[in-house]
Amino acid sequence: MNIKTPIIMEAVFILIALVIYLVTSNTFFIFNFLYIGSAISIGLYFMAKNNRYARNIIMLAVGSYLFFYLGILGHENLSMSGFWYYLFLGVFEAAVIHFLIAKILGPLLFGRGWCGYACWTAMVLDLLPYKTPQNPRKNWGYIRYVLFLVILCVVSSIFILKISNPDLIIYYLFIAGNLAYYIIGIILAYKLKDNRAFCKYVCPITVFLKIFSYFALLRVKVDEDLCVDCGKCIKSCPMDVDMLDNSRKRENATECILCLNCVHACSKDALKL
Ligand code: SF4
Ligand code: SF4
Ligand code: SF4
Repeated sequence: MNIKTPIIMEAVFILIALVIYLVTSNTFFIFNFLYIGSAISIGLYFMAKNNRYARNIIMLAVGSYLFFYLGILGHENLSMSGFWYYLFLGVFEAAVIHFLIAKILGPLLFGRGWCGYACWTAMVLDLLPYKTPQNPRKNWGYIRYVLFLVILCVVSSIFILKISNPDLIIYYLFIAGNLAYYIIGIILAYKLKDNRAFCKYVCPITVFLKIFSYFALLRVKVDEDLCVDCGKCIKSCPMDVDMLDNSRKRENATECILCLNCVHACSKDALKL
């Protein structure tokens, strides 16, 4: 990774902070995006220096802030249920802004960077023992679409049935949903010997992420003149991406989380972001 990347990333987050502040007049967003941008930029600096734990530390810093500070203490449901809830209410606040930046518009620029550097579910899953998949990928991707529809129906029913105390319900949904994600994610990781099994088959957010990251500007690409086909990069990938094919239609193209394991695994310097 180029040493300029952390500086560019910090600049991008300062820009986002200013734009969101101008739109909402809420000074919280300045603090929020400066914190996230600085955590990511400092981590990227250490990644550029080949610190092997830098990405995990970024995830813990950003994911814990979003989940514990904003979610649990601040009662901001930043999950998919919160996104639909505040969108239906017409409130352009935390969850809607969060989804727009991290999961809908942002992926056009940085793909699934959210999944590699900020997700509070994966910050725990990535600490489990199976950092690269030990078994072939299963054909279970349909589960994410089922869960996506279930969440949409649950949130819609709050409005259709005019359930009282909807804010409290949405808060409990945030806690219960994320607890379930942690439990399912950890069980799947051990059963399938794959830390990222939950991401591959269950996570409903990937319905958005996979669509928009297909067009991502930031992608890992191979220089075929330098590559000697040793296959080390493929073995190092937690998401089964065929990074040796530069086309957008490469195998599991929309699964890349920009972890850069493949880039670090290549001794020929043939892979670049
Ligand atoms: S796929 Fe879902 S659980 Fe996995 S890192 Fe991305 S958002 Fe988090
Ligand atoms: S690790 Fe490098 S040299 Fe080996 S296959 Fe991958 S890109 Fe090619
Ligand atoms: S190892 Fe490379 S291709 Fe695989 S997810 Fe990480 S950055 Fe993407």
